[in-house]
Amino acid sequence: MKICAATGNAGKLRELRRILEAQGHEVVSQKELGITIEPDETGTTFEANALIKAETICKASGLPTIADDSGLCVDALDGAPGVYSARYCGHHGDDEANNDKLLEKMKDVPAGQRGAKFVAAVCFILPTGQHLTCRGECPGRVAFERLAGDYGFGYDPLFIPDECGVGRTDKRPNSEGRSYAQLTPDEKDAISHRGNALAEMEKKLPEFLKKAE
Ligand code: IMP
Repeated sequence: MKICAATGNAGKLRELRRILEAQGHEVVSQKELGITIEPDETGTTFEANALIKAETICKASGLPTIADDSGLCVDALDGAPGVYSARYCGHHGDDEANNDKLLEKMKDVPAGQRGAKFVAAVCFILPTGQHLTCRGECPGRVAFERLAGDYGFGYDPLFIPDECGVGRTDKRPNSEGRSYAQLTPDEKDAISHRGNALAEMEKKLPEFLKKAE
């Protein structure tokens, strides 16, 4: 199926594209369709924001559309930055400033109390307005410093997942303590919040499409 990816975030688009293409879909980005709208993320949950983005971009594209709203929820910060992850530093989409702020907030938090999880809500919507939302999570912890690698975006250098993948679908404990940024794309997709949300969607989509006919 040809699906419009409702995101202007290059890192997210890369991941949505490779996971959805592996599931047999064709992905076209909103940018490739000439859509420059940036929906206001006024929701207070990942699910509400994913729906806002999917609805808005679906109306503009006329295509089945998928949107992802995601973020990092840190235990020691009562779930922050959460739905505000993209603008934690005060302005939108500055990964370096967001990481600096997170490191500063966590500087006195000892190992053992640095638990966190990445969350993604993925909303698939048809031009009829019928939609399906799936949530994926990935537990882990916040590093004491950037653990940079060859991959990733956003908070990836600061997030150490509990597990890592060995292929697109297999998992094992992340005993080396590698960050999201140090996992290969396949290793990240196998365990990531986005990979988990899209795996759930792949399971539920056939039934949803049958009902939507
Ligand atoms: P939003 O969903 O557009 O509100 O933005 C989500 C923000 O969460 C991104 O800008 C990143 O800062 C962060 N984020 C979401 N998913 C990931 C990921 O897989 N790796 C690193 N950061 C992420």
